[in-house]
Amino acid sequence: MLLTIGEFGHASGLSPKALRLYDELGLLPPARVDPLTGYRFYDPAQLERAGLVAWLRRLGMPLARIRVVCDLAPGAAAAAVAAYWAQVESDTGVRRDLATFLVDHLSRKDTAMDRPGTPLTIRYAALTDTGLIRESNQDAAYAGARLLAVADGFGAGGAPASAAAIDALRRLDLAAGGDAAGTQPGVPAGTLLNTLENAVRQANEAVRGLAETDPSLQGLGTTLTAMVWTGSQLALVHIGDSRAYLLRGGELFQITHDHTLVQSMVDDGRLSPGEAASHPQRTLLLRALDGGDTAAADLRLHDALPGDRYLLCSDGLTAVVPGPDIHRVLAAVTEPEQAVRELIALANAGGGPDNVSCAVADVVGDEPAP
Ligand code: MG
Repeated sequence: MLLTIGEFGHASGLSPKALRLYDELGLLPPARVDPLTGYRFYDPAQLERAGLVAWLRRLGMPLARIRVVCDLAPGAAAAAVAAYWAQVESDTGVRRDLATFLVDHLSRKDTAMDRPGTPLTIRYAALTDTGLIRESNQDAAYAGARLLAVADGFGAGGAPASAAAIDALRRLDLAAGGDAAGTQPGVPAGTLLNTLENAVRQANEAVRGLAETDPSLQGLGTTLTAMVWTGSQLALVHIGDSRAYLLRGGELFQITHDHTLVQSMVDDGRLSPGEAASHPQRTLLLRALDGGDTAAADLRLHDALPGDRYLLCSDGLTAVVPGPDIHRVLAAVTEPEQAVRELIALANAGGGPDNVSCAVADVVGDEPAP
């Protein structure tokens, strides 16, 4: 016996309006439509499909996708729902980061009147080394008055890729250093992040350009981890598996998150950090500047304090030198230049299997008035 649209709607929890829409979309056509009145009638056996549609709507799944899922066998439908949800969580993660940034940015704007920028001086050094095994160095590192950066190129054009990434950011250092001998807080923080995002886009386009002009370079790309200072704030940009560390109050904090397959497995609880370190696919990157459209970098603001010491490094350091050893060198060696030398020496003492790059910056306090 067939149910009227009202009865079927009541039983399925779907409104008559929704049922008419789902009919028009071919998602849930009625069992019979009265040719004279146009009234829709449904078979009770359709309740199961209607229930699934209702649940998927509650998940926020778009109707076109629901129609696909409803036509799948249960096992495939389960996989499709899981894939949809993984995508939602990934999108939400990106939006959460954006929301955090906006809250931070607007809060700073609110207090900007009371807190004029107090520019900080940094002492800095950067060094990159081929290591003991590789034939060439595809890493690049840079340290300047307003910028600290490391990039780890991969593929046949890895070296030009990392160099292009650093070059795109170096323009920011020159621009920032050019204002009133570097004593002004530079550009506002929000503008700084926009500028940084543009620079990352330019870097990505430069990498794409390399691959397009020389087909033998297909598959090239680079990581990029960098900091740009403005006043007492710094903006951090990060994509790939190079890292940024902060030594503050004697403690060492990793302030970037590796964009690697093994790190995502650690995050999901499928792998322990120890297992990740020896995993055969530990270098597989989930994100990098590879010229693709999805090369999204993490961007955020960070408050620098006098006494802070920052380290940026490529995986040639962290894959070989244990965290406590990095911590010890950073805590003990006063001069940035000597610190980067000692860190690279440790990587080479550990076999130097990869190119290794380090950049260290010390925040030493307010700049003297001009
Ligand atoms: Mg490397």
